[in-house]
Amino acid sequence: MPPTGAEGERRAAVLPADAHETTHPSRPLPVDVVPHLDPAATPLRVYLPSVGRAHVARVGRAVSGAAVDGVRVRAAYSIKTNPDPRLLAAVRDDGFHVEAISQSEVEHAVAAGFAPHRIVLNGPAKWWPAPVTPGPFGAVFCDSVEELRETADRPHGGAPVAGVVGVRVRPPGVTSRFGVELHDPSVLDAVVGSLSRLRPDVRLGLHVHVPPRDVGAPRWWELVDGVVRAAAELESRSGRAVRCLDLGGGWEPADLLDGMLPRLRRTLGGVRRRLERLDEVLLEPGRAVAQPLVALVTRVLAVRSAAAWTDVVVDASIADVPEIGRTAHDWWLARPGHRVPVLAGGGGRVLGRTCMETDVLHDRLRVPDGTRAGDVLVITDVGAYDTSKSYRFGRGDARRPVDVTEV
Ligand SMILES: *Cc1c(COP(=O)(O)O)cnc(C)c1O
Repeated sequence: MPPTGAEGERRAAVLPADAHETTHPSRPLPVDVVPHLDPAATPLRVYLPSVGRAHVARVGRAVSGAAVDGVRVRAAYSIKTNPDPRLLAAVRDDGFHVEAISQSEVEHAVAAGFAPHRIVLNGPAKWWPAPVTPGPFGAVFCDSVEELRETADRPHGGAPVAGVVGVRVRPPGVTSRFGVELHDPSVLDAVVGSLSRLRPDVRLGLHVHVPPRDVGAPRWWELVDGVVRAAAELESRSGRAVRCLDLGGGWEPADLLDGMLPRLRRTLGGVRRRLERLDEVLLEPGRAVAQPLVALVTRVLAVRSAAAWTDVVVDASIADVPEIGRTAHDWWLARPGHRVPVLAGGGGRVLGRTCMETDVLHDRLRVPDGTRAGDVLVITDVGAYDTSKSYRFGRGDARRPVDVTEV
């Protein structure tokens, strides 16, 4: 029920009602945060190695466990979600591939120890700013018919540009700037025409990336079913088998592990019966891998109380956690000699340090009695876009986060 009256006015219009569900009510404070509960400078982003390797291994096991006879399932971690070298090392050691959307990301991945055959290339500008390796890549998914034609023709000293070449599909009814409308007969004709130029030793693939949070899980599975149908049609029209399906990313960690992967395992046998030469399913998890791996430590600057609620102003802001309202987090309050378990929901707010109206980090938290300036708040699960899209703001300097001079 939407909040009304005075309570409604205290709620930030910018945060959806379910923005701040707690992920695990009895979750302990990650041990990696404990040495950082009284940091010299806040806000402080803390990478959590104790969570990292175990979580990556769990995702890795669950992904490969979704395989069925003849079809392996493999994860290609989305580099853009968080390119932290520690994270890349963890997924590398666990056997993941990576998904890159630019040659700068390819360069970063190669430096992190990924051979080109472990890199999946995606997006509309995958050769930008300049090719850094001739490959061959693991897979290249084209964003247009034109790009498919160029990729099929791409010279590569006798070797194919990638083990898998395919197109990204824009399913019917999905509004997106990406992909080709394979359900349009003239587009299908054009794709079939381009495939005649594709070397026979390259495996054909199809890619779809529609974040399940945008459409809901039931619709997401319908879309996947539609892509399988489109793949079967493409096979019969082109005479080439679809060997690889790439189902993209966009899942929250729990949704991937508890919902998507078990269902994929149940579904895949049927998919194989429709696409008889399918031998690989790729997934491109980003946030499902990265989200739990970073926490933010921020200090309470001021406390404001009324009879029914307590608000705090903290020294973090939406610039530090720009997607804070989009996913679930756990919040702890720590003070010397006193540590409060995961904070429950309530009528209090966590207000960011800037003078932006939208700078509200939480608007329904129970801020414990006795909270005072100087206490520290810990926010978990900020390892995905809350880290990679964070920016400098309100600090009186003109430096930009992307300034090479700053690194
Ligand atoms: C960004 C992106 C991903 C990863 O998405 P997450 O939301 O981080 O899981 C995967 N595939 C493609 C094509 C993407 O653009």
